[in-house]
This record gives sequence, structure tokens and C-alpha cells, in this order.
Amino acid sequence: MHVFEKAPAKINLTLDVLYKRPDQYHEVEMVMTTVDLADRLELIHLNQDVIQIESESKYVPNDERNLAYVAADLIKKTYKINSGVQIKIEKQIPVAAGLAGGSSDAAATLRALNRLWSLNRSLDELAALGAQIGSDVPFCVYNRTGLAQGRGEQITHLPPPPSCWAVLAKPIIGVSTESVYQNLNLQTIKHPNTKAMVAAINNSNYDQMVKYVGNVLEDVTLPLHPEVTQIKTMMKQSGADAVLMSGSGPTVFGLTRQQSRADRIYNSLKGFCQDVFVVRLLG
Ligand code: ATP
Repeated sequence: MHVFEKAPAKINLTLDVLYKRPDQYHEVEMVMTTVDLADRLELIHLNQDVIQIESESKYVPNDERNLAYVAADLIKKTYKINSGVQIKIEKQIPVAAGLAGGSSDAAATLRALNRLWSLNRSLDELAALGAQIGSDVPFCVYNRTGLAQGRGEQITHLPPPPSCWAVLAKPIIGVSTESVYQNLNLQTIKHPNTKAMVAAINNSNYDQMVKYVGNVLEDVTLPLHPEVTQIKTMMKQSGADAVLMSGSGPTVFGLTRQQSRADRIYNSLKGFCQDVFVVRLLG
């Protein structure tokens, strides 16, 4: 018995940090959507009580530190499953990139094991489980455009964004999400207009959507990594309608309605960055 599951990357159309909570988490507001760049997972039922991870990526641990392992372990403990699973992960999403690759693998594992082991749990229940793994996991369980609040785990669903293309470009550096949040100065940040972004998506208004993109974490990552600013400039010069860093970076995305312009942006960056992708925004 085996199942396949896709784990799409996410991008932030907005990312705002409101304040630091007594429990040390940051209270955030983020409008996020998924793109058609995805890891591919195959989950194979095992009769023995083990969890095995297989991945060819040298950047991802093949042991209990892998977020897919954490998800499988949580499902097994929560629903008292005595059998095991082998999880093969074909990584397509760059690691430590601000694209939630690890969280999406964890979410895909929850969805896939729900099917493989006929658990018949709702997405809401899987999302609540996912919140125990990481703040971005509930969003990835639903895999659809939404407003994330709280520490990122409270999701309000939104309609799919207006149809458009995104070019993703990641410089060779990796960024630690934790250290970016630690270095954020809450006194000086310029908050994006989350309400206006939500309205733009609800009204399927592309011009308003590109007007209101914003990410407060750029304040930390851009001064540390000039190549991120350089990519932003190159994307703007190649005609992107909006250019923003996703999550804590360093991946930058540029939005455009025309495929020909997406191709032009891609061509301008492909000699400069190791990872460049032309993708569509999904629902
Ligand atoms: P986010 O945007 O949620 O902060 P990210 O895209 O910046 O995520 P990830 O690619 O999820 O970062 O990886 C962050 C860390 O998690 C890496 O150091 C990586 O070793 C570890 N990790 C554990 N499991 C996975 C996995 N299945 N895929 C990718 N990274 C994983």
C-alpha cells in the first residue's frame, strides 16, 4: 500500500508582526498563497513499527529531525497506530528559503497518512495537529490562500488570488527564520496594509493586490544580504508589477500577469541566482 502527495511551496503576499507575546512567539498577520512548485512525497505502509525517511537532498536530514518524520510520529502517537511508514521525499522546493518547504512536507505527510491509514480525519483536525509541529503547518495542511493570524496557525480562508505568474529567485544563502525574528526592531517597522490585501483578494483585484504586498522581515534580511536587494532591483527592471521577499527570505518573488514577462524576468536572473522558477499562483 502506498500513496503520493504533493507539498506545494507558499509565498507571503503580506507579512506583518504586531507584537511579541508573553509566550515569546510573535503575533503575526500574513496573507499567504501557494504556488505550483512542490515537493513530491511517496508514503509506503510498513508492517514494522518504524518511520523511515529517504531524500536525496543533502540539505535535509533523513532522521527524526525531518519535519515529515515529526508529522508521522505525531499521527502514530495521536491515533495509536502500530504499523510504520517509509516516506520518500523528492525535494523541489529550496531549503531554508522562506517558502515553507519543511512545513509543507509535514502537512503533506499528515494528509497522506490520513489516506494511507484510512483515519478519516477532517482537514481542520489535521491542521490542529499540524500546529503542534510548526506555525506554518496548518496553512500548508489546507493548501489554499488564506489570512494567517496568531503565531501563524489561525487560518481564515480566502478565494484564490487573481490569475498571474510569479518568478521565484533564491540567492545561494540560507536564512534562519528564528534569527530574523530575533533581530526585528518592532519600533521602526512599517506595517503593510493587511486589510487592503484581504480586500484585493476578495475582490479579485490584481492592481490592488500588487499595490499592497509588504513584508516587515525585509527590514532585517535586506541589510544583511545585499544580493536580496539586488534581485529585487533586477526583477523590477525586468518589468515585475510587484517584488517582495517571501517569509524570512532569502527567496524573492516578482508578480506579473503575462507569461512572456515572467519569462523575461526569469532570463534576467538565471545567470545570477542558482534557484529561479517561473510558477503560477494556485488557489
Ligand atoms: P519557513 O518559511 O517556514 O521558515 P523555510 O522555507 O525558511 O521555512 P525550510 O525549507 O522549511 O525553511 O527548512 C528549515 C529547516 O528545517 C532546515 O534547516 C532543514 O534542515 C529543516 N528541515 C527539516 N525537515 C525538512 C524538510 N522535510 N524539508 C526541508 N527542510 C527540512
